[in-house]
Amino acid sequence: MTELPARRLLLVHAHPDDESINNGATMARYAAEGAHVTLVTCTLGERGEVIPPELRHLTGAALGEHRLRELTAAMAELGVEDVRLLGGAGRYGDSGMMGLADNDDPDCFWRADVDTAAATLAEVILEIRPQVVVAYDDHGGYGHPDHIQAHRVALRAVEHAARAGWTVPKVYYNRVPRSVAEAAFARLREELPALPFPKSAAVSDVPGVVDDASITTEIDGTAYAAAKAAAMRAHATQIDVAPGERAFALSNELAQPLFTTEYYQLVQGEPAPDDGRNRESDLFAGTGEVA
Ligand SMILES: [Zn+2]
Repeated sequence: MTELPARRLLLVHAHPDDESINNGATMARYAAEGAHVTLVTCTLGERGEVIPPELRHLTGAALGEHRLRELTAAMAELGVEDVRLLGGAGRYGDSGMMGLADNDDPDCFWRADVDTAAATLAEVILEIRPQVVVAYDDHGGYGHPDHIQAHRVALRAVEHAARAGWTVPKVYYNRVPRSVAEAAFARLREELPALPFPKSAAVSDVPGVVDDASITTEIDGTAYAAAKAAAMRAHATQIDVAPGERAFALSNELAQPLFTTEYYQLVQGEPAPDDGRNRESDLFAGTGEVA
């Protein structure tokens, strides 16, 4: 087996597109800096609503196959080469939005046994030995069953891996500081007449918004803004990126700010020794592996 780079980052996501929206700039930055970036996506998102009218005939497995191609294209934009579907493509089905009958499908991720799925993910952790794992919080950021389940599986897999010999030094949740979200929406509402979307979403529509004090880490991805926007555009069935690349909408057509600085909360492991900043500026800070 070839030797992996010294710095290794693993991100766990529910559907193709979540990684580009939440972490596109972070992933592009670390890939460009020579870190090994591994994305594990738990489902193919085959119950997602499709935006372009000409692609709305895609449903079920056909949509899943299409979204896998979108994911591959998005990762090419970010320079990320190690992309995996948990248990193999199609192993876990999209569970649909919370409260739908889809949630009861025995093949959906929401119904999956957490320990079994976590054991599969733990194999990836033991292979890669990442210093950093990025996951959702216990609400999945916004309550989608697949996101909640991705949280459970990721955290359980970290436990499995620790028992089997690799303790992940740092585990983070995807976050957005409330003040940043509020300021971005204020700007967005002013820009709305020039955007191709009829209305603005609200702060409460953004996954992972928390009080600023909870934020431990801020990754400046300004240099990778174009890569992030291109990756989001690659998910054309799910995301509509506005010209100017400062806003986007999902299938609800509500404008949201496109963040190129991405935020995290350290939930396991030691924060970097205080370098005089309020927040870490590197997910690997303190692990002994620096750029
Ligand atoms: Zn999702």
